[in-house]
Amino acid sequence: MTGLNTKEEALFEYISTGKVEEAKELISSGEVSVDCEDKEGMTPLSSAAFKGSEELAKFLIAAGADVNTKAHKHGYTPLMFAALAGKPDLCRVLMDGGAYSQKTNTINKTASEMAAFVGQHECVTVINNHVSIDEVEKFLHPKGPDSEEKFPVEFVRFCHGLTSSHKIHPVAILFHLRENADHLERKKKILYVVDRVFEKQLRCKEPNEVMSMKLWLVLFTLRETFKFMDDRLKGGGPVTSKADLCTAYAKYMLKMNPDDKVRENLDRHLRAAIVAFPYRQSLLFETMVKAMAKTKFGERPSAYEYIVQALFGQRIFALNKFCSTCGGPGANKRCPICKLPYCAQECQKFDWPIHKKVCAAIAERNEKGEEEMGEGLGDGESPREKEEEETVGEENKEIVDVEDVHLGLEQMDIQK
Ligand SMILES: [Zn+2]
Ligand SMILES: [Zn+2]
Repeated sequence: MTGLNTKEEALFEYISTGKVEEAKELISSGEVSVDCEDKEGMTPLSSAAFKGSEELAKFLIAAGADVNTKAHKHGYTPLMFAALAGKPDLCRVLMDGGAYSQKTNTINKTASEMAAFVGQHECVTVINNHVSIDEVEKFLHPKGPDSEEKFPVEFVRFCHGLTSSHKIHPVAILFHLRENADHLERKKKILYVVDRVFEKQLRCKEPNEVMSMKLWLVLFTLRETFKFMDDRLKGGGPVTSKADLCTAYAKYMLKMNPDDKVRENLDRHLRAAIVAFPYRQSLLFETMVKAMAKTKFGERPSAYEYIVQALFGQRIFALNKFCSTCGGPGANKRCPICKLPYCAQECQKFDWPIHKKVCAAIAERNEKGEEEMGEGLGDGESPREKEEEETVGEENKEIVDVEDVHLGLEQMDIQK
């Protein structure tokens, strides 16, 4: 047992009872060590991760807490606790703070394996799809501070955002580019970094196919976007800002005619992206191409629906509605007439000039039951689904018992 002083004991108490402000105050006071350990080997960061407190975790990381501490008696890292607590955003925070995802506990399990064991599939996805900022930094500054070319930290973060985010929908990527249009002066460098991160995925010992496909989709959209920009700028038309060009390309992607069942430009783009995937022996690639070939171009499911199922899993696909504009999950707003889902008003507004010409036609097809619009996009409001949604969204849901999980994992190994 390590000797905690009374302030440190109080800190653990504050963390476990959710007194975030009090905990922060103590940490700032300097009267506690940020990496102090209780008798189980929990540090304040492990405890905060276990409680699922993103705010406190961020605060502790900023205060210098060790994100990869393995002081815990079973070797659990803060990332493992966050995964067990079912907090995907917290997992992301920790990995952005430098947490290694491949670390294992005393029975050789990684954070993602543990998340899978307790059914925290979103955490599994987040952990397996994360590129650390160090990786991006290395490509931009290969010689560290001695590198010939130096880039501002905002640019490093922007590039990291492109490789680590879950945004693979072309319109989501275009929105991200539009918000960061200043960085688009460095188009070549952006492509270089994303390309290198992608290449590295392919060349590592155990290539992560999902991750590779995700990065490829981002890279493909970036290349096409920059081509579109260059063509427009060369075209000698009226001078347009890069942000406006992003908007124009997004509108092009979303184009739809009343008879269309899918957004054809978007579908063509995504189908082309998948077919062009350079890692031909990939099983995932083969599966996706085969599945998509069953659907004639212009018919549902759309290419994006196939992609979401393949890359994010059936469960996430079934439990979420995806925004009709940006493809984002958890789209709980609807067009009042045709019920097309949107994630936010901005997305609905952005689509409206296009959508208003097709809305009535979609509504009519819905009525006739000709088209199950929203089937893949998640129209199903079965009671079971609702129930699950509520459970997932519940704030302070029961925290898992680490000892039970540990025992379960051990037994699983014995049975093998
Ligand atoms: Zn959206
Ligand atoms: Zn509508």
